[in-house]
Amino acid sequence: MTAVARVTDEQIALAERYGVATYAPLPVVLAEGHGAWVTDVDGKRYLDALAGYSALNFGHRHPALVAAAHRQLDTLTLTARAFHNDRLPGFQRDLAALTVTDAVLPMNTGAEAVESAVKVARAWGHRVRGVPDGRARIVVAGGNFHGRTTTVVGFSDDPAARDGFGPFTPGFDRVPYGDTAALAAALTDDTVAVLLEPVQGEAGVIVPPAGHLAEVRRLTEERGVLLICDEIQSGLGRAGATLCTDLSGVRADLYTLGKALGGGILPVSAVVGRRDVLGVLRPGEHGSTFGGNPLAAAVGSAVCGLLADGSFQALARAHGAYLGERLRALPGLTAVRGVGLWFGCDVDPAVGTGREVCVELARRGVLAKETHGATVRLSPPLVVTRAELDLLADTLGGVLADLAG
Ligand code: PLP
Repeated sequence: MTAVARVTDEQIALAERYGVATYAPLPVVLAEGHGAWVTDVDGKRYLDALAGYSALNFGHRHPALVAAAHRQLDTLTLTARAFHNDRLPGFQRDLAALTVTDAVLPMNTGAEAVESAVKVARAWGHRVRGVPDGRARIVVAGGNFHGRTTTVVGFSDDPAARDGFGPFTPGFDRVPYGDTAALAAALTDDTVAVLLEPVQGEAGVIVPPAGHLAEVRRLTEERGVLLICDEIQSGLGRAGATLCTDLSGVRADLYTLGKALGGGILPVSAVVGRRDVLGVLRPGEHGSTFGGNPLAAAVGSAVCGLLADGSFQALARAHGAYLGERLRALPGLTAVRGVGLWFGCDVDPAVGTGREVCVELARRGVLAKETHGATVRLSPPLVVTRAELDLLADTLGGVLADLAG
């Protein structure tokens, strides 16, 4: 009997022929998504336990978001910022209200939001703090992930992100993540900002020691330094709060947001925060052809609408408490870290690698992704059900048991 050619194999061959191998995807080719579920080109269904690294917090094709996009597609999609459009101001109002901030700078991707925050911090340092132009420094954390542009990878310590891509933008000082004393020692008269992920996603869902963020806030305030929190992955519900820093009662001066802000439909990012800080930018100094376009703004407003009553944040807390308990009971994991509905599970090397676990999970109908070799990252859409969380934990438990032999 001859084997029937799978569409999956044809698609992977095409990707290998014409693509650039900047990713090492699992051998799954997805064609459709609905809620917490996706279907591949051969009709197999999977529970999506990655949710686009938190870009799909509301699940695939949430009806309210799709409806907002459809309405806008039939009206106006792009103007460029040479003109006002009738969607952007409302989006800025909605996002400011949601995040309790008073200025919103719209961009597209997460990395662009981080780049924008770096520019704002430097301009603020020079124009407001009086740091001589060209001398501003920004303190960042070891293990950070803020995107893939040359400036941003330049202050990463991940060889895969940076090796071969220099020379890099100067002006960054890196300290170990969660080390308050090292951070305090790194602050100089030229330091204009500290840039941190409140929980490090790509590093493996690393939660800083209790009290660290509050201490960083105290130190930065004392030294007249901006605190910039990158909530591109941790924000907008994932951590069980609108902003992850809400959990520790900390307010940053600037936040970068992205991923879920586009509702899983299109790239939408923003820097939000203090008007007196963002307001240092003057016409002509910063911009983006697509940033703040009416389609993005309509979807972004709809995302703010979904988060307004706190029910998604509550779901993340309740589901996260349940899934965390189930994961911590699984043999074969050496550590389970998490906040909200967001977990980094370290696979015992005696059992297998993170990759092996993810390949086997996919074969059994659950999609997740490894990071840094041994860690499996789990961040299902917040619309997942209790039964689906059981399916996820049962399947992972089965994979770990079978790999352990
Ligand atoms: N910042 C954080 C914390 C991220 O997790 C990511 C992406 O994973 C980025 C920035 C970059 O976002 P983008 O891929 O949209 O450029």
